[in-house]
Amino acid sequence: MENTNCCVCQKPKATLQCGACKEPVCKKCAQFLEEGSFSFLKEVPEFLSHGAYCGPCYDAKIVPELGAYNETMEAAKNIAVFMKDQSKETRNFSRKEAALKVVDCEDREEALLRLAFMAVKADFNALIDVELSYEKIRSGGSYKTHKWSAKGIPTTYHGRR
Ligand SMILES: [Zn+2]
Ligand SMILES: [Zn+2]
Repeated sequence: MENTNCCVCQKPKATLQCGACKEPVCKKCAQFLEEGSFSFLKEVPEFLSHGAYCGPCYDAKIVPELGAYNETMEAAKNIAVFMKDQSKETRNFSRKEAALKVVDCEDREEALLRLAFMAVKADFNALIDVELSYEKIRSGGSYKTHKWSAKGIPTTYHGRR
C-alpha cells in the first residue's frame, strides 16, 4: 500500500497531494492557491499550476513567487502608456524593440494590463504606439462577446510620468 500519511502532521489517509513535492497532504495542513493566481505569466511553471500545497512548500516556493508576481503587477499598473495617436509626444523614444501583443482578453483594461505586465517582465517601464482593438465573437446563438487585443512597443522612459 502506498503511504498516504500527511507529510506535515503524519495523520493517515491524506486526500490531497502537494503540487510541489508531490507528497500526500491532508486538508487541514494544505495551503490552497487560487486558480488563475499566475494567469498573467506567459507560461505558468508546472509547480505553480496546482491548487494545493503542503505548508513548507507553500512558504518556500509559492509565497516568494506570489510576491514577485504581485510586484510585477503593481509595476505594470504604473507603467507609462502612450497610444498610437500620441506619436508626436513619443517621437524621440527608442523603437528598436519588437512590438508586444496580447489577444483574447475579456476587456480593454485586461488587454492593456497584460501588455504592460509583459513589458515589465522584460525590464521596460513604458509602452508606446499602443493600439487596442476588439472583435465581436458570436458564442451560443445571438449572444455576442468582445475579445480584446492590444499591441505596443516596450521601451524605457526616462522623463517624468
Ligand atoms: Zn496534515
Ligand atoms: Zn510539498
